[in-house]
Amino acid sequence: METSNNFIPINNWFDNEIKNPVIIAGPCSAETELQVLNTAEAISKIPNVKIFRAGVWKPRTRPGSFEGAGKKALKWLQKVQQITKLKVAVEVATQQHVKECIDAGIDVFWIGARTTSNPFSVQQIAEVLKDSKTPVLIKNPINPDIDLWTGAIERIAQVGVKKIAAVHRGFYPFEKTTLRNIPKWEIAIELMTRFPKLSILCDPSHISGNTKYIKEISQKAFDLTFDGLMLESHICPKEAFSDKKQQLLPSELKVLLDLLQFRQSNLNNGLLDIFESFRSKIDSIDFQLLELLSQRMKVVEDIGGYKSHNNISILQLRRWKQIIETRVDYGNKLGLDNIFIKQILQLIHDESIKKQTEVVYKNNNKKI
Ligand code: PEP
Ligand code: MN
Repeated sequence: METSNNFIPINNWFDNEIKNPVIIAGPCSAETELQVLNTAEAISKIPNVKIFRAGVWKPRTRPGSFEGAGKKALKWLQKVQQITKLKVAVEVATQQHVKECIDAGIDVFWIGARTTSNPFSVQQIAEVLKDSKTPVLIKNPINPDIDLWTGAIERIAQVGVKKIAAVHRGFYPFEKTTLRNIPKWEIAIELMTRFPKLSILCDPSHISGNTKYIKEISQKAFDLTFDGLMLESHICPKEAFSDKKQQLLPSELKVLLDLLQFRQSNLNNGLLDIFESFRSKIDSIDFQLLELLSQRMKVVEDIGGYKSHNNISILQLRRWKQIIETRVDYGNKLGLDNIFIKQILQLIHDESIKKQTEVVYKNNNKKI
């Protein structure tokens, strides 16, 4: 599907070009008119923030908690537009939400993680966006499925929306972890390679679940060339109706944004030469690694032949244990990380077993 060249970068979505990084901030939920207006006014004084976020319909995992102020909150957001000149962003999960937001003149929609997970919902949202072409942020699905995320982007792009950006908000961890949602950065990087022109933001608030990790996660996103951040900020976080622990005071948000280092992804001429010399070294090492891996696999196939002739099992547990121990020890002395060595060995071992199995089956004249 040819959608990858059609996106308009997020800093060009509105009449006045926004300087990167693009910062979206606001409360998890619009709770009361006063809370929305006070938060927006405080946030509008932070020069980097251009878009105000607030959930109006809240997708709660379980029933019984605050589910958002609903339609009436759209009027509060119109006041935010008039008073602060900030653009406003709202989460949409149904066709009705989209219609009400279009009527209210909401500037940006976002599709939440739970909705991205459902292609039927995304398709229905896409159908009502056909005419308005309002900009859309698409959060990653709850589960680490890159195709589901890609599919949601394609569904919205298919109806002609060109102002689309992805938001990495982390993935649901089954077990209890320090962070609320696991930032699988490799998935976000894969998305960047699938859609080189698509802007991608990070939502460090939902990844962290607690304000104390937000700085580290935000900086990591900038180091990985993310185009901006979507953060939760509330005028009085301890009284928030949802996501209390992860919302920053507007004053804390300002301090955080001043501390972060935004990195350029484009190399200027001076740096290019230096990078080229590093890169040619890395290229050469990578090719040597591939040559060695290929040599290793040839030896593995030979030994597979001997095992097959002598009716010896492919897996030799004692040998495998010994490989791990000696390589981890050796790699440690070279300054390599234990887990990294084990993961690489595991991959090599899996591939070796696969190759030997093929040899054995071939020798037995069986098809696999
Ligand atoms: C939110 O942004 O408030 C929200 C509900 O996020 P997510 O869809 O990432 O859980
Ligand atoms: Mn939230």
